[in-house]
Amino acid sequence: MRYERVVLKLSGQAVSGRNDFGFDPEALDHIAEQVLGLRRLGVAVSVVIGGGNIFRGNVSANWGIERAEADNIGMMGTVVNSLLLRGVLVARAGGQTEVRVMTAIPINSVAEPFIRLRAVHHLEKGYIVIFAAGTGNPYVTTDYTSAQRAIETRSTALLFAKNRARGIFTADPRTVPDARMYRRMHYNTILRQNLTIIDQSAVLLARDHHLPIHVFDFGEQGTMERICRGEDRGTWVGDVDSDELE
Ligand code: UDP
Repeated sequence: MRYERVVLKLSGQAVSGRNDFGFDPEALDHIAEQVLGLRRLGVAVSVVIGGGNIFRGNVSANWGIERAEADNIGMMGTVVNSLLLRGVLVARAGGQTEVRVMTAIPINSVAEPFIRLRAVHHLEKGYIVIFAAGTGNPYVTTDYTSAQRAIETRSTALLFAKNRARGIFTADPRTVPDARMYRRMHYNTILRQNLTIIDQSAVLLARDHHLPIHVFDFGEQGTMERICRGEDRGTWVGDVDSDELE
């Protein structure tokens, strides 16, 4: 199936490149190139970016910080990543493409508030939209946010970018040599087998709204474009009758 409107979920690690923390200009350049490639193809694209390269709320116990407060810090991390990405996208696009950051936590002087219909309108005009600050609520992650924003903006697929994984496997291929990759699988397989590659809350939401999810290797040039043209790459998660292994 050809996709005309998609949400791309990037983890903070897509910004930090080979490192677990911080920022890598080459990694940001790669993201910008891939996103602008999709735009050139005529796909309406929005991005949800994580903040794991800065802070994740689930480490709150290590710092003696209450979880809800730690999650606020994590959400602010996603704002930093979103602004960085906007800067790089604008520079790379050379004024050809408008890029908007919409935040779930109001920060009026640096980004627009998230207003669903305004986001839809931006996409209809061909703008790239970056959703910052997750959902604005603690106890969830940006995986969940990406499924929610995809449904809210009437996107037809959620593209789940992974670094160092080209899809969803039956077991961790780094430790289980005969692990096999799923080409197609049902949401329920992820839930039943407790696979952790995507947050279960995001999978549940996607399942209930029949939102297809593609998990793919973001390091591979042009994969998103191929997926949007209808090619089979990585793992497709959706309403299938039976799972299919590679
Ligand atoms: N976060 C949150 N609510 C949201 C989205 C994110 O509280 O709706 C916080 C949470 O602490 C999370 C952090 O922001 O750990 C960074 O997001 P995430 O862990 O999803 O980043 P990623 O793993 O994708 O880099």
